[in-house]
Amino acid sequence: MENSLNPLTKYYHQDYPIQSQTEPGLQANLDPIPDAGETSYHGSGQLKGKKALVTGGDSGIGRATAIAFAREGADVAINYLPEEQTDAQEVKHWIEEAGQTAVLIPGDLKSEDFNKELIETAYQKLHGLDILALIAGKQQAEPDITNLSTQNIKETFETNVYPILWTVKAAMKYLKPGASIITTTSIQAYQPSPFLLDYAATKGAIHTLTQALSAQLAKRGIRVNTVAPGPIWTPLQVVGGQPQENIPKFGQSKPLQRAGQPVELAPVYVFLASDRASYVTGQSYGVTGGDFTN
Ligand code: NAD
Ligand code: MG
Repeated sequence: MENSLNPLTKYYHQDYPIQSQTEPGLQANLDPIPDAGETSYHGSGQLKGKKALVTGGDSGIGRATAIAFAREGADVAINYLPEEQTDAQEVKHWIEEAGQTAVLIPGDLKSEDFNKELIETAYQKLHGLDILALIAGKQQAEPDITNLSTQNIKETFETNVYPILWTVKAAMKYLKPGASIITTTSIQAYQPSPFLLDYAATKGAIHTLTQALSAQLAKRGIRVNTVAPGPIWTPLQVVGGQPQENIPKFGQSKPLQRAGQPVELAPVYVFLASDRASYVTGQSYGVTGGDFTN
């Protein structure tokens, strides 16, 4: 283990091997396997007794969030696509190992009906709902707008934007004062890459939607914030999220000279979910390796 205090070398900072998977990809097949906190995240009771739903909870940032929420004392339901069942089973193991209830709810967020079912199932099986961590997302790189397919544009918006509205709408009858909603934008909302036209636009939409929602829900005592990750080593990047040639040096152009690991996002989701963030709403929190989110 290298110097564990230096952020430049605290986590993997070598070149990444060229690799690709088909969507949605599996965490277990990444080389190297990302650090989602399985052995590195330690909790301190910050979410004791809370009930949380995490979308995209099987892998990457969602997985790190689900594991951290459980280590902080929350019962956790995760949503993911059926193809990701093996990754999801591992997360279930870590949640239960933390002594918490784990609920697995596979399904496609592009379906409005499924979003309603997801909220109902999570509420019934967790016996409550206090935290929505909306982390699922789709990203496909395409450097030439003339090759951008309408199918891809639609699916990117249907995956990244619509489910936030649908899940929150369905959850309103359950969320009480003190509840926390956390969406996931991106550095792409603030510094968009030319090869991520549709994806960057969805992330800009999420930023704006989060602000509007926070303003609407403040009077009900419900806080709404968003997290803006920079380059993080997750399946999203090797299923077409990055042009292949970007994989080896992924993240190295950032001030901290490496990609982040999913576990490095977890403390921010935990803080925003916790009662300690009682005066924090309508904000975007960057975890970017140094790029500015304003
Ligand atoms: P990931 O591949 O581990 O997670 C994305 C998850 O989205 C998948 O695990 C899958 O379960 C879920 N998903 C995709 N389509 C779905 C659908 N139709 N129905 C249900 N679930 C679906 O990758 P990640 O990087 O951890 O992504 C998590 C979030 O972080 C995404 O919103 C992504 O846009 C955002 N983000 C990632 C990075 C990065 O560099 N990795 C940077 C900025 C923002
Ligand atoms: Mg996944």
